[in-house]
Amino acid sequence: MKKMTASRHARLDLTTKMMLGGRNPDEQFGFVNTPIYRGSTVLKPTVKALNDRHHARFVYGTMGSPTTEALEKAWTELSGAAGTVLVPSGLAAVTIAFMAFLKAGDHFLAPDSVYRPARNFCDSVLKRMGVETTYYDPLLGKDIARLMRPNTVAIHTEAPGSQTFEMQDIPAIAEAAHARGAIVMMDNTWATPLLFPPHERGVDVAIEAGTKYLGGHSDVLLGMISANERCWKRLRDTFVAFGCCPSPEDVWLGLRGLRTMELRLRTQEKKTLDMARWLQKRPEVLRVLHPALPDDPGHAIWKRDFKGSSSLFSIVLKPAPQEAVEAMLNGLSLFGMGFSWGGYESLAVPFDVSEYRTATRFDPGGPCIRLQIGLESNRDLKADLAAGFRRLAKAAN
Ligand SMILES: *Cc1c(COP(=O)(O)O)cnc(C)c1O
Repeated sequence: MKKMTASRHARLDLTTKMMLGGRNPDEQFGFVNTPIYRGSTVLKPTVKALNDRHHARFVYGTMGSPTTEALEKAWTELSGAAGTVLVPSGLAAVTIAFMAFLKAGDHFLAPDSVYRPARNFCDSVLKRMGVETTYYDPLLGKDIARLMRPNTVAIHTEAPGSQTFEMQDIPAIAEAAHARGAIVMMDNTWATPLLFPPHERGVDVAIEAGTKYLGGHSDVLLGMISANERCWKRLRDTFVAFGCCPSPEDVWLGLRGLRTMELRLRTQEKKTLDMARWLQKRPEVLRVLHPALPDDPGHAIWKRDFKGSSSLFSIVLKPAPQEAVEAMLNGLSLFGMGFSWGGYESLAVPFDVSEYRTATRFDPGGPCIRLQIGLESNRDLKADLAAGFRRLAKAAN
């Protein structure tokens, strides 16, 4: 690759930057991709160099290697952040971000629609550490200020919400938080920085489960946390303190996924919208929860703040007995049943949030199913669901 000047690189489209980010063929015999560096020890030529931990590019395996640096740099550029740390899972990205900015005596605000394992972390570890979490209605915008206390140091957000897809007004929440000295964190896994540039919209610390769209093939667990200038040092110091680093192979799979992420995301966006519109017309379906649909309650905010939508949404069926829903799901042949999403394969999972939400009541009016649309043909996926609807009707009668 011919050397490109920094100013010329800065003017390139994001799509092009995603192909160049974190690559250095000149340093690796012309080979296109950054290799996997395995290692703990990093040798130094002198005692002075050994002790100079603050200026060294590489110090020890847990703190980074050329492989991790490549993905960190690419993700930082894509996110418009000051820096990124890589961790072994999306959940680790959530928990390390929380641990970096919360301490005993602090008050924390998290949306009632937060990713459930994040909620579990707040209710167990954070509680034990003396951090009090208040769950708030995700539809609160600037009115979040009413829930803030003098010791509220951070507000967590996630848009759209897990399972139920409520849109959050992130810029309004950020304005209220910043006016009172608090920071805003966001789980941006659904949109990725491609569809929602978090730091441009007021988010200080952005969390991403790289397991989902970056990996894209259900074969890797990875997490990224990016931060703006205000929060970068604290995040990096906490990451180093924890020593919680991903394997170089997994980081390499992340780098590989990065090159096709936009392609997959844009294809899945189109396929998902087509499936969502088809489902809206099905007589068995009461509602489709997808913020890119014009009649969705979160549509205006989505349209204002997001550059696209992704492959995960939910449907609410008309009231049906549990056995009928199970007959529908158990017989699906293309849609798999299992957790996680963002891969090339389609998934369907039933859910019920009523048992654990505390600040709001989600009254869907029927059984709920979360769908992830993969890269199979929509004609085949519709046939699979249509057969499922026939089993549903037969078991219900
Ligand atoms: C999956 C997911 C995570 C956690 O990612 P893992 O890599 O599976 O731990 C975090 N947040 C959201 C919104 C997710 O969907």
